[in-house]
Amino acid sequence: MITKIDHLGIAVQSLDQAVPYYEKALGLKCERREEVASQKVRTAFFSVGGVHLELLEPTSPESPIAKYLEKNPAGGIHHIAFSSDDVESQLRQASGAGVKLINEEPFDGAGGKLVAFLHPKSTFGVLTELCMPKKGG
Ligand code: ZN
Repeated sequence: MITKIDHLGIAVQSLDQAVPYYEKALGLKCERREEVASQKVRTAFFSVGGVHLELLEPTSPESPIAKYLEKNPAGGIHHIAFSSDDVESQLRQASGAGVKLINEEPFDGAGGKLVAFLHPKSTFGVLTELCMPKKGG
């Protein structure tokens, strides 16, 4: 079951350039930065009323974020992430409804979470992430 919007993923060319906008212009506080090797990105997190903003900077030209920035050089909203109480059954439900999956199984994402993505071709153009805290951690 999906329980809430966990975060919005926002692609940026540079965290060092984008973070000051969120801090100085919007007055938000960067909670933490983290590198996610599996996605070849560096991330910076902000919390807004229980929903997070996840800024994403590519660490390699093969990063999915680097590919997004080739098409959208100014950056932009890259994905929406829903919290689910069971990502695997959520994937099966989506697959059963005819949705194309990017990940057949959840993998380790940022913030100690298990994550998996649905293909934007099946989600009306919105790259969709499902996530939940890892069990026991
Ligand atoms: Zn995300």
